[in-house]
Amino acid sequence: MYRKLLLTLFLSVLLGVLAACGGSSTDNEQDASESATEEGAEAEGDSDGKVYTVATDNAYVPFEYLDEESGELVGFDIDLITELAKEAGIEIEIETLEFAGIVAGLGSGKFDIGIAGMTITEDRKENIDFTQPYYEAGLILAVTEENANEIQSIDDVDGKVVATRQGSTSQKYLEEETDATPEAFPEIVEAYQNVLAGRADAVLYDLPNVQFYSEKEAGGELITVGEKLTGEDYGIGFPKGSELRDKIDEALTTLKENGTYDDIYEKWFGERPEGT
Ligand code: GLN
Repeated sequence: MYRKLLLTLFLSVLLGVLAACGGSSTDNEQDASESATEEGAEAEGDSDGKVYTVATDNAYVPFEYLDEESGELVGFDIDLITELAKEAGIEIEIETLEFAGIVAGLGSGKFDIGIAGMTITEDRKENIDFTQPYYEAGLILAVTEENANEIQSIDDVDGKVVATRQGSTSQKYLEEETDATPEAFPEIVEAYQNVLAGRADAVLYDLPNVQFYSEKEAGGELITVGEKLTGEDYGIGFPKGSELRDKIDEALTTLKENGTYDDIYEKWFGERPEGT
């Protein structure tokens, strides 16, 4: 009884917070132009004065999200693209939008660069050119404690409602590899919220995001179950044929070699990447 009350209280607080966030998400094309990159461009001295638009996700912890206290866009991808722009000597301006719009916008040439925990897939490669992989993720299933007995792995989701995000690799996985009923939301936070409120049986999403959300925002109420599924290599995307791809890819090689990449990784994941 007491537990139930606590959970209800927790959920209403969570909903309140989400509602507050929701209010600003209508005008979420946030302009977070990075002054640091301007310095970088000066330092390199080969900027042609052009400002390249970088599209990123608006809520994908810990890769890109708004810091609650400062209201600033922060995360692993944000630090990485800032350093990459410096290294490549280009000036960038960051725009945030929902994930499905980034994939579509890169394909149509609306943005110059996309960094959004975006998995390199054969389908996407038809419309987008990617750098080498910069982070290796995988998909994981998560449930509340109440469902943890019934759903212990992806083998138990047939006939269940599994929440996920629109346009993601998880949505595709659910549709193609399982007999679950996928429910895909524009924002991944909505998927988590539905599982916590008991409106969906489970959520399938990228492991680092599920873990970070579960620990930092859901107070451990979301439990991951089963094995990590599929390899998900994240790449930085460009419209087909963009000459920026090689520039940023080279800069990425440099940052991997000179330790900058490892420093950013450690800042966000609390340890240095394996093999370094
Ligand atoms: N890695 C997943 C994909 O590419 C999810 C990315 C995201 O939600 N930002 O589909």
